[in-house]
Order: sequence, then structure tokens, then C-alpha cells
Amino acid sequence: QTVRHSPLVLEGLVKHFGGVTAVAGVDLEVESCEVVGVIGPNGSGKSTLFNLISGMLPMDEGRVWLVGKEVTGRSAWRIARAGLARTFQIPSLFDNISVRDNLLAAAVEGDWKGAPRRAGEVLEMLEISHVADNLASELSGGQQKLLEFGRVCMRDPSVILLDEATAGVHPNIRRIMLEAIRRVREAGATFLVIEHDMEMVREICDRIIVMDAGQVVAKGSFDEIADNVEVQRAYLGR
Ligand code: ADP
Ligand code: MG
Repeated sequence: QTVRHSPLVLEGLVKHFGGVTAVAGVDLEVESCEVVGVIGPNGSGKSTLFNLISGMLPMDEGRVWLVGKEVTGRSAWRIARAGLARTFQIPSLFDNISVRDNLLAAAVEGDWKGAPRRAGEVLEMLEISHVADNLASELSGGQQKLLEFGRVCMRDPSVILLDEATAGVHPNIRRIMLEAIRRVREAGATFLVIEHDMEMVREICDRIIVMDAGQVVAKGSFDEIADNVEVQRAYLGR
């Protein structure tokens, strides 16, 4: 029995779709309270990697450990119960209930009694208290992204996967998101984030992995990555 103590450990993850190998043997260990960025061109396997980690797609090969426990092959809800939460590139909210109820609904498996208070804190952290009683569908696209992150926060997960949390949002929303990620991280969460906005990557990530054609082609600090020739070719198209 192999034991892995880091909050998130990936070993040899592989996923094929027919003839396409979307994820081609990814190894990664994310340390406690680290924010690791995942960058790479469209189609390089980033979202598929998240789907494998979160149990939303079965993997063809590999193993995953979450806070010291192997979760390989578990269903998505069991992986969520074990402490993992994620957001989607396109927010998955309940459009026809209020913003506050979207937060409360996210807490159902968690702490019922603490939920209203926690929802208040999350609304404040994300600066959406003034629209708490609006329908989720009435929020701007950026506010919906904040709310989706808020739903994640309701569960106090150990490991959080963010898929393009700030793509296309107003700079003010971006600032709120950035600050919230910092706070949640300081409270003890570990992050793996897919991010296209390199300024955001520079500001929040301790470490970066670069994917191309399903593989990790480079890893390091922002400065190391920016200087890497492979990365410039694969990602920046130079
Ligand atoms: P990224 O998130 O980096 O843009 P994806 O993980 O979405 O990349 O896609 C990686 C590769 O896998 C692409 O070639 C994509 O077309 C393919 N792919 C992703 N999801 C599926 C799927 N459900 N069925 C078939 N092919 C898929
Ligand atoms: Mg994607």
C-alpha cells in the first residue's frame, strides 16, 4: 500500500478518446497550500485532466491520491466528499433560485447549521452581498463566476480545481477573485488552476506546469516558464 501525504498526488494519468490521447501520462504532486497553475494551448488536455482528477471521467491508467487517501476510480461525489471541489469553464449554477440559495444548496452535504453564516461570509468575501436575493441568472457573467467559486467555498474543500476562473471577466471581478483565492488559500486550501491570463498566473501561482498534447512539457516558477524555449514554442506560438 503506497501512502502519499500531499493534498493532491497524480501518478501516470492517461486518457484516450478513440484515437486521441487527451492526457498522456501526467505526474504531479501539489503541496499543502500551494497554488499550481496549469497552462497550455487549446486541446492540450487541461480540462480532461480536471475531469479525471474529479472523477467525472474514468481514466485509462494512473492513480490519484487526495489528502493521503487513494481515490482512484471513485465516483465524482465520493471524491467531492473526500475533500475536492471544482469549478467549470462555464459556471454550473441553479439559474432560477437566488444567489444566496445557490450557496446554501452547495452546503447540503456539509454543515447544515453553519451554512447560513458561511454563506454570509462568502457573499461578503466575493462582494455580491447586494445581489444575494437576486436570481443567479440575473448576475453578470463575471459575478456568476464569483458565485461558482463561492459554491466551492461553502464546502471548505482541501483541494480546489479552478478551470479558467477569470477568463473574460471585468478587471474589478478579477481583483475580487484574486483576493478571494488568496484568502481561501491562507485558510488552508490547496489549488490547481487552469488559467490563460498570464498576469493572473504570475500573481497567484507558486508553480506552473505547461501541458502540450496531453503531456507536461515544462514546469517551474513563472520566470522559469517564461524563459523556457519549449513553452514559447508550444504555448506562446513562437
Ligand atoms: P484543453 O482543456 O487543454 O483545451 P481538453 O482537455 O478539452 O483540452 O481536450 C484535450 C483533447 O481531448 C482534445 O483533442 C479534445 O478534442 C479531446 N476531447 C476532450 N474531451 C473529449 C470528449 N469528451 N470526447 C472526445 N474527445 C475529447
Ligand atoms: Mg479546457
